Amino acid sequence: SSISPFLELGPRTKANSLAVLHLSRDNLMPVYLQQTSGEHDGYSEGVVVNTRYGSFPHSTMLNVPWGSQIRASKVDTGSRGRKRKRVPGDEADRDNESGADTTTTNPAAAALNANGVKEAVAASSGFIHVLPPTPEIWTTSLPHRTQVVYTPDYSYILHRIRARPGAVVIEAGAGSGSFSHASARAVYNGYPQPDDADKKKKRGRVISFEYHEQRFHKMKQELADHCLDQIVHLTHRDVYKDGFLIEGSRSPEAEAVFLDLPAPWEALPHLSRRKPEGYTGLSEAAGQRKEGEGEWTSPLNPRKSVYICSFSPCIEQVTKTVSAMRRLGWVDIDMVEIANRKYHTVRDRVGLNMPVDRGVNNSARDDGIDGEGVGGGKKGGAVETSAHPWMDGRLVTRGEPEIKTHTSYLVFAILPREWTKEDEEATAKKYPIGE
Ligand code: SAM
Repeated sequence: SSISPFLELGPRTKANSLAVLHLSRDNLMPVYLQQTSGEHDGYSEGVVVNTRYGSFPHSTMLNVPWGSQIRASKVDTGSRGRKRKRVPGDEADRDNESGADTTTTNPAAAALNANGVKEAVAASSGFIHVLPPTPEIWTTSLPHRTQVVYTPDYSYILHRIRARPGAVVIEAGAGSGSFSHASARAVYNGYPQPDDADKKKKRGRVISFEYHEQRFHKMKQELADHCLDQIVHLTHRDVYKDGFLIEGSRSPEAEAVFLDLPAPWEALPHLSRRKPEGYTGLSEAAGQRKEGEGEWTSPLNPRKSVYICSFSPCIEQVTKTVSAMRRLGWVDIDMVEIANRKYHTVRDRVGLNMPVDRGVNNSARDDGIDGEGVGGGKKGGAVETSAHPWMDGRLVTRGEPEIKTHTSYLVFAILPREWTKEDEEATAKKYPIGE
């Protein structure tokens, strides 16, 4: 199969590949761009995305540089038969040898019904941008099946659990796949390639679990559609009961774990180096009950310290998780909350006969500290106009009065690597004491 656009992105949009249409800041629409024959038969526009900003035939969005601005179709006048109207700064403008969006002939709007034509005419002055599928953009546009982990949280989490190229990360539950996409990119180390000769090369993987059947199937399909199924290995499983072994009883040998579960303390006994108390093998539900029932292998990499993050919205969940971690030998336990805050920055134009925003923090200070004193560097009081009036005045910032964006508490911990008798002997041999 081909390489996921989430992992390696070409310079331009492609047919049969995912793109995200940016209609407005809060309105993103994932689409698979299709090469349709409609544009060639002079009869219809082929597949069209209809939005309140106008109609956008897929043919106009193919083979353009990522980030291009796309103008709405003007099906009433047939103007798309002429050169597409350009907008200053349009990427496609500077780089339009593709012609895919400029040479379309469209003499008729016959394929659109009368209503469709009317709407397209009304909105034909609109434009959208065609964005690449990155984990960040996917997070803001994905179909929500659950609460999801957002970029400010997962960027910090991936850093703390050391999810890096070649790493094996366990994730539960998969939910809507927001974290799965971000972690897949973090562990991707260039493998596998479509005709991969170097099969021995260790590739990074995300070992993911989801027990809600419908969500599991949706996500399985999504991973295949996004060509991420070679990196993200998804299992339908109740991890409280059946733990994290894969393909029956094989250990994924994970070195990092991310739990986004309602009761992480119920999953933690399985993330141990020792068999969980009372474990008698995979349940019937896991469909993998095997000979040697009760056999257990740790899902963790025995040669490495394992880094974990557990993501919970309530402090009561944190308390229970931390207690379980302590009991199970995790160390360096700490909790972090990512508190995102938006700052509104304006220029304080005191003395310029401009309205002054009295709500701005510390606007009365003239020492330039709270107002940052950058830019024009003019402090409160009379300010002469200059050749760059937009640079006059101090920059001042106003934060949101309260932080409304509590997502979750992040509990981090480390399980030290296993130290066996063999390790001790090998080390003693390598570094003899007293010689
Ligand atoms: N991290 C995900 C994302 O970024 O899209 C969202 C995870 S969602 C909040 C929690 C998921 O855990 C749900 O889809 C739920 O079905 C799943 N879940 C809950 N208990 C589980 C269990 N015992 N085993 C496996 N999955 C479970």
